[in-house]
Amino acid sequence: MQRIDAACRQARRPPASVLLLAISKTFPTPSIQEAYFAGQRSFGENYVQEAVEKITELAGLDIDWHFTGPLQSNKTRLVASHFNWVHGIDRYKIAQRLSEARDAHLPPLNVCIQVNLSGEATKGGADRNSVSDLAHAVAMLPRLRLRGLMTIPEPTPDAALLRRRYAELRSLRDALNTDGLGLDTLSMGMSSDLELAIEEGATIVRVGSAIFGARNPANGTTG
Ligand SMILES: *Cc1c(COP(=O)(O)O)cnc(C)c1O
Repeated sequence: MQRIDAACRQARRPPASVLLLAISKTFPTPSIQEAYFAGQRSFGENYVQEAVEKITELAGLDIDWHFTGPLQSNKTRLVASHFNWVHGIDRYKIAQRLSEARDAHLPPLNVCIQVNLSGEATKGGADRNSVSDLAHAVAMLPRLRLRGLMTIPEPTPDAALLRRRYAELRSLRDALNTDGLGLDTLSMGMSSDLELAIEEGATIVRVGSAIFGARNPANGTTG
């Protein structure tokens, strides 16, 4: 994606240091196939049932599937068996269930801890003060590989505020690495603000509408 290349140049970062995760929630499999044949390999889905249907249908393609939605404990088994990554870990119990459900023949499941930096009660994510304890506990789970942190900032036109959120996620990650956790991932930035996120160190940007177009709110599965 040209916007990522331009943002990397601006930030003096190699373009290969940022992964474009195409968020395909609500879009049908032909849209995913079209992006795949244009070279896209990493796709993100938010709704377990919808995702499992698409993953099954597209089983012949070499796709890295990321689960980016909120995760309930009764869905951990499906997610652990169909995905390579989970971005929204915000409590130990979910991580533990994912680890227990991850097949021994598969590589460890890559996970990120989601941090709620805005304090919005309705939003998923661990409180910033609990991230360190949670990260150290998740890092010990045998069938998971803790890769880093993820955040979804509050919707705001205030670029300075978004920049502060992303800078804070980065400094939380850096502090965990000072503790020896070796985290290589910052999952932050979406269609509207990926340049800002890349300037603040994003290694995965999660982009939906800028790739696939506007999602249809009438189908009830936007978010
Ligand atoms: C839908 C979604 C995105 C993509 O949002 P766009 O604004 O369409 O780029 C990114 N991250 C998460 C967690 C999402 O749910």
